[in-house]
Amino acid sequence: MTPAITVLALSGGVGGAKLALGLERVLPAGELAVLVNTGDDFTHLGLRICPDLDTLLYTLGGVVHTGQGWGRADESFGFMEELRRQGGPDWFLLGDRDLVLHVERTRRLAAGERLTVLMAEFAQRFGVRSRLLPMSDTPVATLLDTEAGELEFQHYFVRLRCTPQVRALRFAGAAQARPTDELLNVLHSKALQAVILCPSNPYLSIDPILAVPGMRAALRASGVPIIAVSPLIGGRAVKGPTAKIMQELGIEASPASIASHYAGLIDGLVLDHADAAHAEALAMPVLCTDTLMSTLADRERVAAAALELATALSRSRARSRA
Ligand code: GDP
Repeated sequence: MTPAITVLALSGGVGGAKLALGLERVLPAGELAVLVNTGDDFTHLGLRICPDLDTLLYTLGGVVHTGQGWGRADESFGFMEELRRQGGPDWFLLGDRDLVLHVERTRRLAAGERLTVLMAEFAQRFGVRSRLLPMSDTPVATLLDTEAGELEFQHYFVRLRCTPQVRALRFAGAAQARPTDELLNVLHSKALQAVILCPSNPYLSIDPILAVPGMRAALRASGVPIIAVSPLIGGRAVKGPTAKIMQELGIEASPASIASHYAGLIDGLVLDHADAAHAEALAMPVLCTDTLMSTLADRERVAAAALELATALSRSRARSRA
């Protein structure tokens, strides 16, 4: 019998996958589900590419390029070399093995299959023990209003290396998206004990998930503690444009801003020791640990901290009900 899901993690790509791997390693096999951002997905060279889902697939499947945090370790670039030689667009790197997923995904989506179903099959073939759930089966595209005009996510993130100043974000297609039945089954299950927001970029990776109509309400209705792990350490992002975007949107890069961004959704926050001084001012329970996840042991420690805070909150709720 497949084990019931006890923890649901919300994740973007590289930063989120670090914690997802930690959670998978500290939980009994098969008890983790990861709800993954698909706002970064795009169609390129006629292929449907889902960067965050594939980062989770490769990370939890044990084939990821660990130095990069995305793509495969065992990879060749013959396709890319030839594409370049033919004068094709070469700003988005596609490895030869990686390409197979995009080709297969495109073929199966065109045949009418759901993204959730085909990603579950990919995950099974990669030996992934956790459940990978796209945030929606219909396309949602993160669009950035920048000084350089409106940009599709990958053009902003990869082609322009996050350089343009961001003025606003929107999620095209979100209004038509719905939480999938697979996700709702996890959220309705009595076995579920915690929802963890990975330290993914709140604006680019978690907000698209929360923009799916009914998503916030469904997460809250699960009744389990919802814990976020802050992506900031000492007011700086470990990697990527989180702090830069906050500054451009006029938001201070601080734990208070993360807490207020997720206000009404989360019940507790995991902060780095470097930010411990901010804990008291936050109107929610906080647990501090070293949140930099360089090693596998770091990933497990941060995962254990998030679960510990969730367990503490469940216990105090049970006590106050008694
Ligand atoms: P992307 O979709 O590949 O950009 O990745 P995510 O959105 O999932 O993650 C990016 C965020 O993860 C950034 O805001 C980083 O600050 C954060 N991050 C990356 N590594 C770590 C880490 O080791 N610890 C913490 N606390 N945050 C991290």
